[in-house]
Amino acid sequence: MLPGLMQDRPLAIIDILRFAATAHATQEVVSKNVDEPIWRSDYAGTMRRVAQAANMLAGLGLNSGDRISSLAWNTHRHFELFYAAPGMGLVLHTANPRLPDDHLVYTINHAASRVLLIDRNMVEIVERIKDQLTTVEKIVTLTDSARTPAGYEGYEDLIAAQPDSFAWPSFDENTAAFLCYTSGTTGDPKGVLYSHRAVVLHGFAAGLSGALGFSAFDVVMPCQSLYHATAWGLPFAGAINGVKFVFPCDKFDGASLQALIEGEGVTFSGGVPTIWTMYLDHLERTGGKPGTLQRVIIGGSAVPRDMAVAFDRLGVVVQQIWGMTETCPLGVVATSTPALAARGRDAENEQIWTRQGRMMFGIEMEIFDDEGQPLPHDGEASGALCVRGPWVLERYFRSDTSAVDADGWFDTGDISTIDELGFMRITDRKKDVIKSGGEWVSSIDLENAAAGCPGVKVAAVAGVYHPKWEERPIMLIEAHDGAELSEADVRAYLESRVPKWWMPDRIFFEPVPMTATGKIDKKIIRDRHADALKEG
Ligand code: ADP
Repeated sequence: MLPGLMQDRPLAIIDILRFAATAHATQEVVSKNVDEPIWRSDYAGTMRRVAQAANMLAGLGLNSGDRISSLAWNTHRHFELFYAAPGMGLVLHTANPRLPDDHLVYTINHAASRVLLIDRNMVEIVERIKDQLTTVEKIVTLTDSARTPAGYEGYEDLIAAQPDSFAWPSFDENTAAFLCYTSGTTGDPKGVLYSHRAVVLHGFAAGLSGALGFSAFDVVMPCQSLYHATAWGLPFAGAINGVKFVFPCDKFDGASLQALIEGEGVTFSGGVPTIWTMYLDHLERTGGKPGTLQRVIIGGSAVPRDMAVAFDRLGVVVQQIWGMTETCPLGVVATSTPALAARGRDAENEQIWTRQGRMMFGIEMEIFDDEGQPLPHDGEASGALCVRGPWVLERYFRSDTSAVDADGWFDTGDISTIDELGFMRITDRKKDVIKSGGEWVSSIDLENAAAGCPGVKVAAVAGVYHPKWEERPIMLIEAHDGAELSEADVRAYLESRVPKWWMPDRIFFEPVPMTATGKIDKKIIRDRHADALKEG
């Protein structure tokens, strides 16, 4: 092999911000914060504050490779930690405040974090769990002096006197940068340790036109949590492209988002379907218009087709994405191609609205049958979705065994089809598949169909034991406030939209339980209604 003769400069996360601070110095970074006035700075100002934060962290005696945990919302201070910690060789564990206390404690202890940085309204959680945190030596609140709770030290006080430059070290690009845990709906949460190389390559790819298609004219409001798989890499993909950032803190209700969209000229946002259900509901109730908002990426759970249609009517493009903590997290994004556009506008829309997304360079994907044989990409054959690539995990944090097979494939646990244009469509999660009399019912398709029924806020489907058919679907419907909706309405709506034998055996009108990452918690539903059909 003949070695190439190009510079061997490691990929480093801090270089993304250094670039943005130079090439887009005056581009704005705007943020809401807990009980504080709106924050305004730019990339150059952010770079200086990131250096101050790094000096502050260095002063705490942290060594490279040490973990620190954040328990924080989508704010500029959290964004600063996204660069300061990895930049100096630390690992930022973004703890998920929506996890049950025991899982939260588990993740912070498992990470062995030495410092915990928390938003002001996390104090209550921290007071509850702090005695169980075995490695945390110091807690810092992400607050200004005026709002630092008694007995705590505030970030602004700690960084104020620090120099605004830092001697950023250079190190191997495979060095760890972020530690993100899966939400652990089955067993303990599992840690995925992102490297600088994975995060930078993912950030490059995420901004491409075949993915999120960013430019410096975008005003990006991340509504996916910074603590959930780095908000799908937006802090990096956005800065690489010099976008204006607008951080909404923990205010994801329709009215708050609308105020930011109108006030800041937001063009692009993203988040799980629940947030967009609330937003669309808000627009409908108030007669509001999405104004400058041009594009919304939605993922984490399947996007109901009618949600995409509702946005389309408002002139907003919806792109579905699929990903997981283990893939940094972007895997596919729904974008068009000339071959698809040639099929006409309706066919193009249908494809974009109902597929999880299209393959992108950097993530190889394949579907396999039960014998491990690859299945055809015909949009019909469905099998275990496996992925591999430079931003896919090799093994979980502190695990001795690899999470991938001999060919490097990571089994995602999802069942999907892939079509001839490279579009991937999830039909279910393996553990949620409903097997009725030897045939499969797609819980996602059934939920999707019911979600379009007027008055339905969330529809959830799970399989429960049935003496004759092995399993049959049951459905939970959570209706919009004030909506008048009966079981007969839902059944009538489904009748023409799903095969007859998919019709749920029971429909319950009750709130749908959600996981810490905003997904329908099927385990709770199955447990709660385990005996619903035991009489057949
Ligand atoms: P958790 O900790 O909840 O598992 P992840 O974000 O890692 O959080 O979850 C990844 C899973 O979410 C995927 O394996 C898939 O089942 C589901 N998912 C993500 N995006 C989509 C989507 N667009 N449609 C359907 N399911 C999705």
